[in-house]
Amino acid sequence: MRRTRNAKIVATLGPASSDKDTIRRLFLAGVDVFRLNFSHGSADDHRARLAILRELEKETNRPIAVLADLQGPKLRVGTFAEGPVPLAEGAAFRLDLDPAPGNAQRAGLPHPEIFAALVPGAELLLDDGRLRLKVERCGADFAETRVVVGGKLSERKGVNVPGVVLPISALTPKDRRDLDLALELGVDWVALSFVQRPEDVAQARELIGERAGIVSKLEKPSAVERLDEIVALSDAVMVARGDLGVELPAERVPAIQKRIVRSCRRLGKPVIVATQMLESMVEAPVPTRAEASDVATAIYDGADAVMLSAESASGRHPIEAVDMMNRIIEQVEADPLYRQLIDASHASARPSDDVAEAVCCAMRRAVGLLHAAAIVCYTMSGHTSLRAARERPESPILSLTPRLATARRLALAWGVHSVCTDDVADVNEMADVACAAARRESFAQPGRMIVVIAGVPFGTPGTTNLMRIAAV
Ligand code: PGA
Ligand code: MN
Repeated sequence: MRRTRNAKIVATLGPASSDKDTIRRLFLAGVDVFRLNFSHGSADDHRARLAILRELEKETNRPIAVLADLQGPKLRVGTFAEGPVPLAEGAAFRLDLDPAPGNAQRAGLPHPEIFAALVPGAELLLDDGRLRLKVERCGADFAETRVVVGGKLSERKGVNVPGVVLPISALTPKDRRDLDLALELGVDWVALSFVQRPEDVAQARELIGERAGIVSKLEKPSAVERLDEIVALSDAVMVARGDLGVELPAERVPAIQKRIVRSCRRLGKPVIVATQMLESMVEAPVPTRAEASDVATAIYDGADAVMLSAESASGRHPIEAVDMMNRIIEQVEADPLYRQLIDASHASARPSDDVAEAVCCAMRRAVGLLHAAAIVCYTMSGHTSLRAARERPESPILSLTPRLATARRLALAWGVHSVCTDDVADVNEMADVACAAARRESFAQPGRMIVVIAGVPFGTPGTTNLMRIAAV
C-alpha cells in the first residue's frame, strides 16, 4: 500500500476516534502519524489506542508512527467560590498563592515561578488570550493587576505570560509520569509543549535518549527567538499555532510559521504545521475556503506534515477531515507551481567536509537528470532518509531499514515511504534488493532507473557515503 503524496498527515485521536473501525478508516483515508494527546484522557485510553494502532500496523503491513504529545507547563488559575466572575475593564484584580477559592477581587494562581518572574508592566493573558491583565505591583506571592480587556473568568482557565521566560522546566511532574507511560508503550515521537529554551530540549533528551524522537512545539515567543538552536537539538518541530497565537498577536503567526518551516528545511528536521487547519470541520462536513487555502500554503512552503487536532479527536467528521486534507495535498503537489516553489525555497548545502551532504547533493542532481523512478535509501538510524528528504527531490524516496522503530519514525518525513527489510551484505546485493523493493512497492517498472544511496560498511548509522544508479 502506497500513498501518492509527499507531505504527511498527523491526526489526533480522541473520543470521536478511538474504536478500531474509526482508526482503521482514518489510516486508510491518509493518516501517517497518530497523535495521543496527553492533555486529555487516561493512561488506559492511551494504552487502548496504542494497542489498536499496533494491530492495524500488522494488518496493513505498513509502519505507523505514534506521537505522544505531553501537556507541558500549562499554567492555570485556581477555583472560584461561586462560579465564574465578571472582570470589568479598569477594575483591580489580585492573583496570589492563597489556595482559598477566588471571587471578583482575587483568584489563586498556584505557580510561585510566575510571581518570581513578573515585573510591573508585564501582561497576563487568561483563557486563551480572551482576558488581559496588566501587572501594577507584585511580590514573591502576589500580583496586583488592572484589567485591560475584561470578560468572564471561570476556574482552571489557562494563563499565558508572553514575553517572560519562566524559570520552569518544559516537563512537569505529570509530564514525567506521562513520558514514562509513553516510553513504556513504545511511542515513536514525544512532543514537548511550551519549550522556552534549548536547555528544555536537552533536558528531555537526557530522559528520553534515543528511545523516541523529540518534537519541540514552538508556541512561546522566547523559543522563536532561539529558533535555530532549538531546531538543531530537536528531531522534529511543530508550529503550534494555537498557543503561539495567544502568546503573540495573530497577525505575527503567518510570518513566524514560514520562518520555522524554513529553518527546519535548512537543518533537515521534519516540521509539522498544526492547529485550526480545518477547524470548521469540527462541526461542518466541508471546510471553509480559507482553511483549504491554509493547508495548501503549508504544503507549498514544503512542510513535512499538516496536523488535525479537534477535527479528528472530537469533531463530527474525522474521516472527512483526513480525506479533505489528503485531497488538498494531492492537488497542490500536482500543481506545476508547487515544484517551482519547492525548488526556489530549497536551501542548498554549504561547502563542508560532510560526505553525506555531498552524496545527497549528487543524488538530487542525478534524480533530476535521469528522471529516476525512485530514490532508494538504506538507513539504520533514519539519518540517510531524512537527509534525502531534505533535498525535496522530484522522485519519491523508498526507505529500507532493518529497524522497525526507524521505519515507524520516518512516517513523519516528507516524501518517505518506509519499509522494513533484512540488512544486506554487500554493494551488489544492495542494488538487487533495492530494485526488487522498488518493483514490489510499485515505485518502478522494469527498465526504469533508480538512484540508491547508502553507507558502507552496512549497518553503521550515520555513514551515508555511497550512491549507485541501477536499472530495475
Ligand atoms: P496543543 O498544541 O493543541 O497541545 O495546545 C498545539 C498548539 O498550541 O497549537
Ligand atoms: Mn499548545
